[in-house]
Amino acid sequence: MNFKGLASGLFSLFLPADCKICGKALEPLNFSYICENCWDRVKLLKMPHCSRCAKPFPASLASLEVPSLLCTECSQDSSPFKKIFVPTLYQGVMKDAIHLLKYRRKKGIMKQLEKILKVYFFQTDFPFSKFDLVVPIPLHRKKLRERGFNQAELLARVIATHFGLKLVKNNLQRVKATKSQTSLSKKKRIENIKGAFQFRNKGKFQAKKILLVDDVYTTGTTVREAARVLKKAKARETYIFTLARAS
Ligand SMILES: [Zn+2]
Ligand SMILES: [Zn+2]
Repeated sequence: MNFKGLASGLFSLFLPADCKICGKALEPLNFSYICENCWDRVKLLKMPHCSRCAKPFPASLASLEVPSLLCTECSQDSSPFKKIFVPTLYQGVMKDAIHLLKYRRKKGIMKQLEKILKVYFFQTDFPFSKFDLVVPIPLHRKKLRERGFNQAELLARVIATHFGLKLVKNNLQRVKATKSQTSLSKKKRIENIKGAFQFRNKGKFQAKKILLVDDVYTTGTTVREAARVLKKAKARETYIFTLARAS
């Protein structure tokens, strides 16, 4: 922890901040901006869901006990990635937490997100040995300067460190400053993201099995475009990891 972090940590010991979600006072030494009660409301994504893109299915399908079931979209198109791993849904406390991290730059949120990831890895027996490299979805340099960090890189770093995997962060680059995807239709998202990524050194990705990491999966246009670029760089297989997924 740097001096600034230490100082603000000490300060909040004397003057506990309130939970950014429910407004109750935070527990001592909780620097995650959200109280334990609110964090407890985050639940891991449950089956049944699409075995490739993790789109949740109606609970009634759980009784079918089919090991791999694809959603309509996945069964109709050839995806540039093999499968997505995603611990939570992008809603409620998780959505607020990601907003605090990204748009209000509350990096203390990462501590708790790290705990959630580790529970997910443990409970799902996460197949880390499948991957040669962990690659975060890059931010455009202008965005990176504004925010000061890339949240996808923070997540990728947690995964790489936890499993002793290699993190490659400067070889996939965002060369186009795209508009925010949030308010765009799916068609507009695809147009907006086209040509956004480039790879620098083909050799780095060639024949590799890659875990591509982003914070949120909404319609999947960003990770698809990045996976397509990795395919052009001759990656053998690309898997996706995102912290949360839109339902
Ligand atoms: Zn709370
Ligand atoms: Zn699917």
